[in-house]
Amino acid sequence: MIDQHTKLYGLLGCPVGHSLSPTMQNAAFRASGLNAAYLAFETRDIGGCLRGMRALGIRGMSVTIPHKSAVIPLLDELDDLASRIGAVNTIVNDDGRLIGYNTDGIGALKAIEAKSDLNPEVCLIIGAGGAARAIGFILKERGVNVAVANRSHERGRALAASLSCPFVPLDELKGMSPDLLIQTTPIGMAPKVGECIVPESILKEGMVVMDIVYNPLKTKLLTIAGGRGCVTISGLDMFVNQGAEQFKLWTGLDAPVDVMSRAAKEALGDVGKDWFE
Ligand code: NAP
Repeated sequence: MIDQHTKLYGLLGCPVGHSLSPTMQNAAFRASGLNAAYLAFETRDIGGCLRGMRALGIRGMSVTIPHKSAVIPLLDELDDLASRIGAVNTIVNDDGRLIGYNTDGIGALKAIEAKSDLNPEVCLIIGAGGAARAIGFILKERGVNVAVANRSHERGRALAASLSCPFVPLDELKGMSPDLLIQTTPIGMAPKVGECIVPESILKEGMVVMDIVYNPLKTKLLTIAGGRGCVTISGLDMFVNQGAEQFKLWTGLDAPVDVMSRAAKEALGDVGKDWFE
């Protein structure tokens, strides 16, 4: 029920039309018996949004492209991990103080830990964008040996330097034998579902392979990796876990992860139809 007591949450980004977050977070509020609602705000005016958030007492926001870094100077406080990553995907409104967090890395970590014991000798991260940074910092924090591969050498070397780890050009991937591989570029995302950035020959039995792309749920990389005996982890598992961390930051409650996962999968089925039609 929406009434005068309803607490409002939302997503700030552009575009937001295909976001699964409203369906997923509203399912979590309902399952937890909370009088709260979550909306998607398609906006380029991040400053105006934050003023509105303060003025209207909006309790929390997710932040997505293109605002994850631009929002930082507009906040009152920044969580240490978000500060090191240089990107915020979650804002908590704590009695008028806007605090920025980043839950992408912990979402990825929880998705990996659910399927493996996270004890790799070498983890290869493909990509050096915002998601790769978030994942790289949290893995380093957990003592994992990371290497970064990226199309742009400059960006790849910059992330590798921040993580004090090796950089690998994409055309040298064939020489790698990581036991955990995390694909963080948009390659393989609908509608270009036939693309895969990883050479098939490096996918070995028992290797753990996560593709953070979640539309489609089973990317070409995950299909090939599954066929070669790898343990595969879908980007939706990361997405649901990063959303669960947001729910916890906003409400102080444990998130109903199964409910959120089901809601996101159902919504992805609907959204997927649009993309493939
Ligand atoms: P980003 O900051 O724009 O970074 C994009 C990365 O992909 C860069 O490393 C870029 O390389 C690389 N890339 C892009 N197009 C490429 C191409 N054609 N060939 C090779 N490399 C290419 O984006 P992001 O925020 O990190 O997000 C990346 C992807 O992750 C998106 O698809 C996003 O939807 C997904 N994502 C998923 C979750 C989840 O919860 N599952 C969370 C966050 C993001 P250059 O540096 O060379 O440009």
